[in-house]
Amino acid sequence: MKKHNFSAGPCILPQEVMQKASEAILDFNGLGLSLIEISHRSKDFVEVMDTVRSLALELLGLEGKGYEALFLHGGASLEFLMVAYNLLENKAGYLNTGTWSDKAIKEAKLFGEVVEVGSSKDKNFNYIPKGYVVPKDLDYLHLTSNNTIFGTQIKEFPKTDCPLVCDMSSDIFSRQLDFSQFDLIYAGAQKNMGPAGTTLVVVKEDILGRVSRQIPSMMDYKVHIAKDSMFNTPTVFSVYVSMLTLQWLKDLGGIAAIEEINEKKANLLYSEIELNPLFTGFAKKEDRSLMNATFNLADESLTEVFDTMWKEAGINGLNGHRSVGGYRASMYNALSLESVGILVDVMSDLERKG
Ligand SMILES: *Cc1c(COP(=O)(O)O)cnc(C)c1O
Repeated sequence: MKKHNFSAGPCILPQEVMQKASEAILDFNGLGLSLIEISHRSKDFVEVMDTVRSLALELLGLEGKGYEALFLHGGASLEFLMVAYNLLENKAGYLNTGTWSDKAIKEAKLFGEVVEVGSSKDKNFNYIPKGYVVPKDLDYLHLTSNNTIFGTQIKEFPKTDCPLVCDMSSDIFSRQLDFSQFDLIYAGAQKNMGPAGTTLVVVKEDILGRVSRQIPSMMDYKVHIAKDSMFNTPTVFSVYVSMLTLQWLKDLGGIAAIEEINEKKANLLYSEIELNPLFTGFAKKEDRSLMNATFNLADESLTEVFDTMWKEAGINGLNGHRSVGGYRASMYNALSLESVGILVDVMSDLERKG
């Protein structure tokens, strides 16, 4: 039976990417050796690293604009502290839009003063704060573009004098933005790009080297730039599969093409949530995420019936995060419109049954 994977992360990846990845495990590039047993310094792997780094910049429209793309270890969670290690001298601003920004704030506080410029904690993060004031004297402002757990997404980014840093773990490569408004973007691979293990960091070189503290090599973006993301052994499998996914995206027509599909998927599901009296949306309408739709049953006594129905339809990963409850449908790039259609059919079947 075909599975429809709505998991929040690790996430669905394109089938053709899985196919190529499995071939490379057995025999990479016809070498008679596996991708995961050759030297990362070999010509074949160096080419993978070079390709994925330039593909990332190309898809984001950041080639030749002073940016470097790095593929590092440690997940987005390590970037919470690496960002502060490399950029926080005195004071940084953070917009608190949920669990992940909360964690980023906690780490940054180890390195300097942190101002929360805004927070949506008062309503369990079901909206994006707006109209907040960004102080003039910040080393950087940190935002989380998409709040994976709560299903909210920033639609308009503030203009700032200071560098703008953004955690895009769960919506990178999903929608068109002017990416040059950001000075540092980071994203764990496993939400929209590849398997867990690597983290993409896109950084504008001229914001580095401004802090006075000593930075250990593994924590230092400049070291990783100088070594082309090969300071130590990279997470070869995750990097390779990320390359395949970005090639798949490029062949599809890039971010513009996938954005159109992502909008169709989200519109289909949100219309059902709005029209079907058995469901209520969690996130505020204007801030709803194209990637993660959060919703609840209006009558919780239907939980068992609904859960049985979507599981029988081959749907996986629909349970909401424990801090929100209810349901969360994650509609990352590789999820098809057809899969969203199956979910919507189950929801309307439930209404018909009463
Ligand atoms: C999942 C997630 C993280 C944490 O990623 P790890 O790679 O597990 O450290 C951080 N930020 C956002 C927005 C996420 O969705």
